[in-house]
Amino acid sequence: MGGTWYWNRYPGARCDSESFYYCYSFSEELEQEWEWSSKYPEQPEILRYLEHVADRFDLRRDITFETRVVEARFDDETGFWEVVTEPGERFLTRFLVTAVGCLSAANVPEIAGLERFRGEWFHTGAWPKEGVDFKGKRVGLIGTGSTGIQATPVIARQARHLTVFQRTANYSVPARNAPLTPERAKEIKANYAEIHRRTRESQAGFPYFPVERSALEVSEERRQEIYEQIWQEGGFKFLWGTFNDILRDREANATASEFIRGKIREIVKDPGTAELLCPTDHPYGSKRPPIDTDYFETYNRDNVSLVDIRSSPIVEITEDGLRTEEAEYPLDTIVFATGFDAMTGSLLKIDIRGEGGLSLRDKWAEGPRTYLGLQIAGFPNLFTITGPGSPSVLVNMPVAIEHHVDWISDCIEHMAEEGALRIEATPEAEDAWVEHSNEVALETLYYDARSWYLGVNIPGKPRVFMPYAGGQPLYREQCQAVVDEGYRGFELRG
Ligand SMILES: Cc1cc2nc3c(=O)[nH]c(=O)nc-3n(C[C@H](O)[C@H](O)[C@H](O)COP(=O)(O)OP(=O)(O)OC[C@H]3O[C@@H](n4cnc5c(N)ncnc54)[C@H](O)[C@@H]3O)c2cc1C
Repeated sequence: MGGTWYWNRYPGARCDSESFYYCYSFSEELEQEWEWSSKYPEQPEILRYLEHVADRFDLRRDITFETRVVEARFDDETGFWEVVTEPGERFLTRFLVTAVGCLSAANVPEIAGLERFRGEWFHTGAWPKEGVDFKGKRVGLIGTGSTGIQATPVIARQARHLTVFQRTANYSVPARNAPLTPERAKEIKANYAEIHRRTRESQAGFPYFPVERSALEVSEERRQEIYEQIWQEGGFKFLWGTFNDILRDREANATASEFIRGKIREIVKDPGTAELLCPTDHPYGSKRPPIDTDYFETYNRDNVSLVDIRSSPIVEITEDGLRTEEAEYPLDTIVFATGFDAMTGSLLKIDIRGEGGLSLRDKWAEGPRTYLGLQIAGFPNLFTITGPGSPSVLVNMPVAIEHHVDWISDCIEHMAEEGALRIEATPEAEDAWVEHSNEVALETLYYDARSWYLGVNIPGKPRVFMPYAGGQPLYREQCQAVVDEGYRGFELRG
């Protein structure tokens, strides 16, 4: 139970979306009865919430745990999908809805020698339930994405020594986590309807009031004042609540990026370490923006060191640690905070075969192609929740997920009313969607970074910008228009 929040139990794992909008919106009773402890809950609390939801709505009887789906084949004659699990059990179903997660296929990089390492190693996305004891240990942490940035301060407080191996320096904004006071909790509970409305209408699923101003239309003094004020508030608001062109205009973005670099130089005492931590090779927000609690401050500790593996790459893992081109680092424990084969990884681990035995792996050999991120031409009655080609990971995800769940449920209901048994995206509609998705992505700065949004973290993965970058309002409008026009771009058959 819990998906992401079941697997990611690493120290410091917590949500970067605030609790009052990283939650379901389908039940007022649930909203009113559940008490969040803080702004940004930790993994165990989110897992408890998801377990509570399962119990509250009696969902467990519909879930089979410890069951990996390995194959799914569409039968042209019967119009049914045959779904095969790892132990070989077979299920027949008319509709197949995937909810395998955009960030659930853990990526352990292939580094020579890992098998002979005598210490322990872990990937943050498959963390042992019983936890890991870092006391007295020399720990190496590889990766400075959102996860590495959450884990670093917590591991540093426990370990004898922590060495962080950094390939790409990252922008991070303080989370400013705090307990939810009873007054604040009451205010939130009284305003849930409005909060949810705003999350659905906003670009990225956050309930912030939209900002209309450009970073370039205000004076330098006013710009710094706005950045400073929102830096003090903390969180994703720095990207979505400061100026409206941070992700669209290089000059505007440069002001935000430079502000954050200024903060890093202020916080980190050793100037050499501070410079290494300053990102200069991509604009702020073009990679998934992390938020943190004491990340940069942690580099002021005596037991923490930073190693630049861009200038001196890792060569191998030895029996006793890790060797870069320049030096050897003795380690007891290695933590891979190296992320995921995002968006397509979990789908393509399943051998999915559509019409005429068409393999999804073959179809997506040059990168994922979908219609609205919801369906794939050649794969009738298969729906992909937060599939590539939908806003998914660029949005506060519960909002994106609920939208898809509603759209898919309504579609299946519509089919039942119409007596339709089969729905399939047409190749023309899919081509047009892929083209439109590429166009809107080109209007952003997302191509300026080597990110997992583009699949760059996985060797051999096609370089395609996978999520839909046109923002939620435009996306939702198009999904609705498709329905209003009788499921335009889909072929429905009896
Ligand atoms: C550390 C971390 C922090 C995050 N923080 C945020 C955040 O702050 N805000 C935000 O909006 N999003 C965040 N996300 C994204 C997060 O993944 C989503 O918010 C959300 O949990 C996705 O839910 P899901 O049900 O779609 O997928 P998941 O939660 O990933 O669940 C998918 C489940 O399907 C299972 N599965 C996959 N393949 C198969 C198969 N073949 N057979 C059977 N089961 C399978 C997986 O094991 C997993 O249990 C975070 C992700 C991570 C990893």
